[in-house]
Amino acid sequence: MSIQDILSKDTLSREDIIRLLSAETPEEIELIRSKAYNTMLEYVGDKVYLRGLIEFSNYCVNDCYYCGIRKSNANTERYLLSVEQVIEAAKLAAEFDYGSVVLQSGDRRDEQFIEYVVSCIKGIKDATKSEKYPEGLGITLCVGEQTEETYRRFFEAGAHRYLLRIETTNPELFSKIHPPQQKLEARIEALNTLKKVGFQVGTGVMIGLPGQTLDDLANDVLFFRNMDIDMIGMGPYLPHNDTPMGKQYETTEEIKKWRFELSLRMIAVCRIVLKDVNIASTTALQTIHPTGREEGLRYGANVIMPQITPTEYRKNYMLYEDKPCVSEFAAECHSCMQMRIASVGRSIAYGVWGDPLHFRNKQKN
Ligand code: SF4
Repeated sequence: MSIQDILSKDTLSREDIIRLLSAETPEEIELIRSKAYNTMLEYVGDKVYLRGLIEFSNYCVNDCYYCGIRKSNANTERYLLSVEQVIEAAKLAAEFDYGSVVLQSGDRRDEQFIEYVVSCIKGIKDATKSEKYPEGLGITLCVGEQTEETYRRFFEAGAHRYLLRIETTNPELFSKIHPPQQKLEARIEALNTLKKVGFQVGTGVMIGLPGQTLDDLANDVLFFRNMDIDMIGMGPYLPHNDTPMGKQYETTEEIKKWRFELSLRMIAVCRIVLKDVNIASTTALQTIHPTGREEGLRYGANVIMPQITPTEYRKNYMLYEDKPCVSEFAAECHSCMQMRIASVGRSIAYGVWGDPLHFRNKQKN
């Protein structure tokens, strides 16, 4: 079947998705990109939603084999922002009119941490309430696998979105990139719990992992569809030298190029298949290619997360190497982001939470 025939179908099969992901000629890729872009315009419009990203701590109890802040990496200087620093960063996001913030950290499940996150959520809500934001800024959490009770405490404190990346839905591959105590089933259960609690739920995968196939990625897309996911955040696998995977696998320029192009095709395919979800154009895309985030927008993404973590801490939140935006101040990231978004003919939706329409549409049904 031709790419054109596949793109004219309402529902894509696994084979269709694999065919789209394996497209190689510029003509085929442009057909896919333009279908994704038009799907985005039709279902969610052309606006880009911003979430100020606050990486508030790099302590982590886990040891994912790919991650630069894994607990066994003794070369990372650990930090935890104070609640006041987190609130100050969020106030900056309100000042820039971002509408929402993302609070992100490594995984911790101790009571002190949970209480700290609850204080940050409540503090941000109180500090950012205004005529424009009667309920304060929207808050997305990205703080890993937690118990149902903890998720409820976060939700009741005022967070309403949660990102928990599955990284891959292939059980064998999952077990190759995580230590044995981390289980794919636990991650899936956590996603179901988040939905049950009432969060708008986001997930995503790493693209171009050693040993990953297009079949795996097609299964990932179908997983997003079957799980009725509201938000997608994914990007290319990027190595970090202080990790087991970074040491084991070589990454050539050719591999980087392949990972970047495959990541863009994954964004496009997710837009075509999932239609009204929010899709982030992630920092990882910009790490692998200087205009990666703009390209992500061209392939159907509609969310960008500008850095507002206090600058002095950013160098210690290195999940992978060569991460951009580590020495700029928040105001510089703000104007850089405006310029990048405008460069691809898109405009920013200022002053709104920017919830995924998929979540609202689900509630209507
Ligand atoms: S990927 Fe997340 S859970 Fe895994 S080591 Fe890194 S910060 Fe911790």
